[in-house]
Formats: sequence, structure tokens, C-alpha cells
Amino acid sequence: MHNVMVNGAAIPVIGLGTWTLKGELCSELVAHALSLGYRHLDTAAYYENETAVGEGVRFSNIPRDDVFVTTKVQYTDIAPGDLERSAEESLKRLGLDTVDLLLIHWPNPEVPLAGSIKALNSVRNSGMARHIGVSNFPTGMLAEAVHLSDAPLVANQVEYHPYLDQTKVHAACRAAGMAMVAYCPLGRGGALFEDAAIGDSAKRHDKSPAQIVLRWQVQQEGLVAIPRAERKEWLAENIDLFDFELSSEEMVAISRLRSRNYRIHDFGSLQRRSLQWDTPA
Ligand code: NAP
Repeated sequence: MHNVMVNGAAIPVIGLGTWTLKGELCSELVAHALSLGYRHLDTAAYYENETAVGEGVRFSNIPRDDVFVTTKVQYTDIAPGDLERSAEESLKRLGLDTVDLLLIHWPNPEVPLAGSIKALNSVRNSGMARHIGVSNFPTGMLAEAVHLSDAPLVANQVEYHPYLDQTKVHAACRAAGMAMVAYCPLGRGGALFEDAAIGDSAKRHDKSPAQIVLRWQVQQEGLVAIPRAERKEWLAENIDLFDFELSSEEMVAISRLRSRNYRIHDFGSLQRRSLQWDTPA
């Protein structure tokens, strides 16, 4: 698996998204994904599947240190004290001594960012997380977080697919030496897969629309994608991306689809009162 090197972290460019996967099905899919070559797993306290993800890692017999495990702290738990407790509980459920990456899942305008970033650093200093980062941070808040953090932040996990313009967030991540980790990288499939810009490349390269979309993601600098799939054939398809390349014309044609600026996940009502997404570039 290829990695992006960001602020001291080596992050495999494709990870398995695990939101909605639960229990035995989740453990089995995690172990299966690892057997196919996945080396990056994305979970969160909110997903209520950390126990199953940890079991999947153990079932797989892949050495723990070969797998990059990300988890996230709920926005309700990011005050100092709560954040450290949440990290400890995540580790207990995962059955791990440390995670590779701990993220603040969503910003919380009611909790001062300075305290959250300090707590995130103390989790890193105690060894409970090898690296730290954020998720769903617009550029203004990302700049603040970068400034407040003693240790370098390594990633901002945000929604990103061809229908959403994240030019500004991507540029801000790169300027800070961070990865942009794309969630909903397939835009959940559907209409996107029918788009001519995707379909034409799929025919040209004899690949599926999902593979074209994921290839477009990982061909961008500092980009990591974490697609979720339950179907085993799709799990296999989603890491089979490294035997072809999109031309610069194809990259531009797919990138043009961002003018739709279609977002699947908006802020909740709490965040909406004081936070705004970046406008299109
Ligand atoms: P996604 O990965 O864009 O799409 C998942 C959907 O695409 C599933 O319905 C899946 O089908 C289908 N699919 C997967 N591979 C396919 C293929 N090769 N061909 C056709 N269809 C395919 O959306 P997502 O699950 O919302 O996002 C991915 C991950 O991002 C989540 O699991 C989670 O880990 C993370 N996430 C993070 C946040 C955050 O706030 N930080 C928010 C949302 C998501 P089947 O499942 O039926 O196989």
C-alpha cells in the first residue's frame, strides 16, 4: 500500500471506512480487508464499533504495527479531561495500547479550542496516540488549531468527492504539511458514478467508476481516501488502483464537477450557529 508522508506520519492512501459496520460483520470485514492488503482503518467513538474493529485486527493475524488505526473523539467530549477519558475508553474498546491517529471528530463552538488542542497534545505525549489531527475543520479553525498545537497536526478529515469543492481546505492542509483525508470519497455512489467525466475514464482504463473516483483522489498531493464497502468484491476493487494513471486532462475534467458543490454532511445545529464551511474557490 502506498503512503503519504505528512508531518512525521506515514498514512496509507486508502483506508477502510467503517461507519455503520457493527459487530461480527464489522470484525469479519476488517479482517478480510487486511487480508486483501488494506493497512489503514477508520473508526470513531461515535460509530460504536471500536471493539469489533479491534477484534478484526486480531483475527487478521497482521502485526499490529503494520496497521494504521484512526479513531475520533465525539464533539461532546472534547473539553480537557473529557478528551483524555474518551481516548482511554477508545483504546480499551479497541484492545490497543495506542492508536496511530486520534482526531477531534467535529468542532464544538461551545468548547474553547485551546483546551481541546492541549488535551489532544497530552494524549499524544502520554503515548495513547502516535499522531493527532482534526476532522470537519474549515480553514479558519484549522489555522487556529495548527497555531495552538505543540505537536504537528497530521490530518484534517473532511468530506471530499468530485461533487464537492474542497480546494481551500486542501491548500490549507498542504501549507501546514498535513494530509487531507477524504470521507464519503465515493459520494456514496449513485449519480456520481453515472457522470460522463467518470464513465469516459472508466471505459478508457477498463476500471469501474468507483476506481476512477478513488484514483482521482489518491493522485492528488497529500490526499488519503477512506471508502466504506460491505461487498467483498467492492472492498477488493477499492484498493486495486495502482496499475493505471489518470491523465492531467482526465484529472481536470473530473475536478470540474466540483462546481455542483454538493455536500452530504452538514454541521449540526450547534455548529451552524457559529461556524461556516469554506466557500468554493
Ligand atoms: P462512501 O465511502 O463514499 O460510500 C459508501 C457507499 O459506497 C456504500 O453504500 C458502499 O456500498 C458503496 N461502495 C463502496 N465501494 C463501491 C464500489 N467499488 N462500487 C460501487 N459502490 C461502492 O461513504 P461513507 O461510508 O459515508 O464514507 C466513508 C467513511 O468515511 C465512513 O465509513 C467513515 O469511516 C468516514 N466518515 C467520516 C465522517 C466524519 O465526520 N469524519 C463522516 C462520514 C464518514 P456497500 O456498503 O453496500 O458495499
